[in-house]
Amino acid sequence: MEQGTTIWLTGLSASGKSTLAEKLTDFLNNNGDKVQLLDGDIVRDEIGGMFGYTRDERIKAANVYRVMAKLLNENGINVVVAAISPYEEIREANRNRIQNYIEVYVNCPIEECIRRDPKGLYNRALKGKEKHVAGIDEKFEIPKNSDIVVNTFDESVEESYFRIIEFLKNEDIGIIMKNI
Ligand code: ADP
Repeated sequence: MEQGTTIWLTGLSASGKSTLAEKLTDFLNNNGDKVQLLDGDIVRDEIGGMFGYTRDERIKAANVYRVMAKLLNENGINVVVAAISPYEEIREANRNRIQNYIEVYVNCPIEECIRRDPKGLYNRALKGKEKHVAGIDEKFEIPKNSDIVVNTFDESVEESYFRIIEFLKNEDIGIIMKNI
């Protein structure tokens, strides 16, 4: 069976990963591609908050997303992952272990993420009420090897989304978008 493709969106909280991941998933669905969305926040919740946000726990949580993505890909299903994935170690493991892997760096400066702050996360972190927040007291290593970077601070949602779609159209990877 032909393998599916994993599109992995990495970036700070509030950078726009979930917004773009949902739109990409809808697009692929409408295009007739089998696709599963794995949103880090939702998976974390569904597995009962097993992991926290220290480096070690973030790596373990990413291992869970990776295993799920691989299994789905092996069964011909494309996967869109939205997860902060702040360390190159996580992203390198993805690259090495997921056969058809496309990494999207959802780039947005921390100042703009703090301004957006849809979950009040940064507000709590800046008051010292929340620890291990990526970009504040937890390192976010800038991705160096992403396949595509979208700059969500100066692009509209539609612009970032269309740039990713255009990129995918020109990629010949896995079974994704074969019907276009
Ligand atoms: P994350 O999943 O990275 O935590 P969300 O997608 O939940 O981020 O929230 C990002 C916010 O930024 C949304 O309110 C979204 O409308 C806004 N936003 C502004 N510009 C963009 C863009 N170019 N791409 C994605 N989101 C954007």
